[in-house]
Amino acid sequence: MNRRISTPLFLFLIAGLAFVLFRAPGVAAAQNAASTGYTAIETRAVVDVERGTLLPGATILVRGNRIEAVGTDVDVPPSARRIDLSDKYVLPGLMDAHTHITLTPGYAEHNPILYKSVPYRTVEAVAAVRETLMAGFTTIRDLDSEGADWADVAVRDAVNDGIVPGPRMQVATLAISITGGYMNNDGLAPQIDVPQFGALADSPAEIVRTLRRQVKYGADWIKLYATGTTKHIDLDNMAPLPQFTDEEIQLVVDEAARFGKPVAAHAYGGHAAHVAVEAGVRSIEHGMMLSSETLDLMAERGTFWVPTINVYFPLDANAELTERQVAITESHRRVFGEALRRGVRIAYGTDAGALPHGDNAIDFRRMVDYGMTPAQALRSATLTAAELLGLDAELGTIDVGKLADIIAVDENPLSDIDALWNVGFVMKDGVVQQ
Ligand SMILES: [Zn+2]
Repeated sequence: MNRRISTPLFLFLIAGLAFVLFRAPGVAAAQNAASTGYTAIETRAVVDVERGTLLPGATILVRGNRIEAVGTDVDVPPSARRIDLSDKYVLPGLMDAHTHITLTPGYAEHNPILYKSVPYRTVEAVAAVRETLMAGFTTIRDLDSEGADWADVAVRDAVNDGIVPGPRMQVATLAISITGGYMNNDGLAPQIDVPQFGALADSPAEIVRTLRRQVKYGADWIKLYATGTTKHIDLDNMAPLPQFTDEEIQLVVDEAARFGKPVAAHAYGGHAAHVAVEAGVRSIEHGMMLSSETLDLMAERGTFWVPTINVYFPLDANAELTERQVAITESHRRVFGEALRRGVRIAYGTDAGALPHGDNAIDFRRMVDYGMTPAQALRSATLTAAELLGLDAELGTIDVGKLADIIAVDENPLSDIDALWNVGFVMKDGVVQQ
C-alpha cells in the first residue's frame, strides 16, 4: 500500500486542519486583538482584598490577559496602551456564586415552564449574563437552569467561544430534587403532566442516572436540593423538609466525585444540612437555619456557605414581611453572625434570577449590616468565591501572574460598601468590556 500523500493533498489536509483548529477561537481572538500587547492602568488606588488595604497611586501593567506588575514604581513600556482610572478605586472582578441566568423575577406568577420556550429563555440568559458582567461580576456559578435544560451550558460555551459577552461561568444544568419537594410544578391536578423545574429522582438508581446525564451534557457542578422550599418549613420548630435519605445524599457526593464534580447543596438547616456537610458537599446554599453543630462541622471541614440573604426578603423593598419571612430572615441574621464567629468560609452569592440580573451587588449591604466589615464582604465576593470555584490560583486578587479581571468604582469600597453598586469599568481576561 502506498503510504505517501501527494503534495496538493497534503496542503489541502493542512489547510483543513488549520480551519478546524482555528475557526472557533477566531471570534475571541478578534475581540482580544486590542489586548495582545501591554496595557497600563493608572489608578487612584488598588484595593488589596486579601489584606483589606489600599495601594494608593498604583499602576497595573497587563500583558495580554495577565497581570504582569502592580505597584507605584512599575516600568511601563512606551508601547503600552494607557487607561486612566486615576480617579477610581480598582479591584478584582467580583464573583456571584449563586445565580440562575435562565430565570427572571416574577417567575412565580408567570411560570416559565408553561409560558416560555427554552430557546426564548436562552436568549433571556444571554441578556442576563451581559447585565451581570457589566455590573462588575466577571465570574459566576449558575446553580441550575430551572427547567431550561442545558441552556446554561450553551451560554457558558458561547461566552467562552467569544460569541456573546458574559462572565466566565461554572454551571449545574438541572438540579436534583424529589417528587413533591422543591422544583415541582405545584397546584396542578394529578392528571396534568408537565415538565418540572428540576430533575426529580426518587430512588438511588434515578439519582445516579440523572447525575450521569448532567455530567455527560456539560455540568461543572451537581446541585442537590437537600431540603424543600420555604413553604415546607414548620414555623413551630423552623425545621425544613429533608428530601433525601442520608444514604442518597452520600450517593450524590460519591457519584459526582467519580467524575471529579463538586456538589452544591441547597439546604436550609436541620438534619439534611448536617448530613450533606458530613457527606462532603463543597458548599451549602442558603442555610438560614444552620445549627451551631453544623456550622462547627463546616468550619472544621472547610465547607463553604453561600448565604443568599436578600432573596428571602420581598422583591418590593417597601412591602411588609409575612410572619414566615420575618421568622426566616431573623434566623438568617442570627446564623450569619454565628458563622462569622465560628470561622465558616462565606462565599458571596445572591440567587440572581429570583432577583434582577445586574443587581448582583445587592447582598453586600446586608452582609455588612449582619456583621462583616466591608473588607470581609469584598473578600467573600473575590478571593473566597474564587476558592470555592477552584479558581484562586488565577483570579480573586490583583496580583502578578493572575488573569486580568479588573473593575473600578468611584468611592472607596473599604469604607463605603455601597460603592459596588456603581461599577464604571470592567475588564475581563484583559479585554475592556463595553
Ligand atoms: Zn437558587
